[in-house]
Amino acid sequence: MPEPSGRRVLVVGSLNADLTVRTRRLPGPGETVTGSDLVVSPGGKSSNQAAAAALLGADVALLGRVGRDGNGELLVASLAGTGVDATYVERLDEVATGTALIAVDDAGENSIIVSPGANGHLSAEDVEQARGFFSAAAVLCLCLEVSLSAVRAAARAATAAGVRVILNPSPFQDVGAELLELVDVLVVNEHELRDLVGPRTVGDGDEPDWEQIVRSLAGHGPDHLVVTLGAKGAVALDLSAGHPAQVHQAPAPRVTAVDTTGCGDAFLGALSHRLAAGDDIAAAARFAAQVGAFAATRPGAQASYPTPGELDRFRSMAEHGGAVR
Ligand code: ADP
Repeated sequence: MPEPSGRRVLVVGSLNADLTVRTRRLPGPGETVTGSDLVVSPGGKSSNQAAAAALLGADVALLGRVGRDGNGELLVASLAGTGVDATYVERLDEVATGTALIAVDDAGENSIIVSPGANGHLSAEDVEQARGFFSAAAVLCLCLEVSLSAVRAAARAATAAGVRVILNPSPFQDVGAELLELVDVLVVNEHELRDLVGPRTVGDGDEPDWEQIVRSLAGHGPDHLVVTLGAKGAVALDLSAGHPAQVHQAPAPRVTAVDTTGCGDAFLGALSHRLAAGDDIAAAARFAAQVGAFAATRPGAQASYPTPGELDRFRSMAEHGGAVR
């Protein structure tokens, strides 16, 4: 594999307009609840991940699709505001920009429906034709809000250019052996972990059975698995280190969670940023767990992401103990 030729973070994937309503509690099936006024804000996993990395100071470029509509304008303008290079975000006619319908309750818990719109029109050919995009970068960050064939094409192009591939298989689907083989770092939350390796492998103890998890994934492609654990932070596992499993803890500071929308994406953006800057997986995961926790203390997705100065203040408050607001 060629050596990485730059420090750039690449992101290929989704851009969504987040349509958010706050409500006392989330509705059950068949139930109607009254919520707050509607708030429209920039979102989509990939666009969030790109924004999180750029706000932290990374050089970031995003490849994706929006519709030629107001939501598309909002997304591209807001990416520019965070410093993301959106040259490879194309506006498509006759298809709506992707949207996410988000409900957030008083406890900060959320429930989300995604309508892919233009994201569903990003093809493997589109990715293959964007040749210049993959040069001079360190890492590529991928999720599954665009087609698996586009994701595979991006992973292939990145690998050929010597760019490390970070995959967040979310929303979860089986990615297949060919894609997994191209992945360097796999990042999942607790639900995706169960989907990935099966509930039996995770075990039913307080702590997932890391030994079994490492054994089930070793030799399938990724060098590292990172599992985010909500308020508990994250762990990073070496999948190529053999027995016993190398488990690096990345605790999150205790915070008063206001809205956990986009915390996982903040984590991914921060992890990509630090890996591109040369950190090892353990240091990158520790940093990312703090950024994820910061994002839980503010409403919204991209609106909740820190700049380096904001993160410094947050970290020094966390070091002095107590819940951070
Ligand atoms: P997802 O948003 O994909 O479900 P998680 O809930 O695991 O992912 O959150 C991602 C990261 O965000 C965690 O690893 C942690 O750093 C941070 N985080 C999320 N919720 C909280 C919380 N309640 N308190 C502190 N940190 C949190």
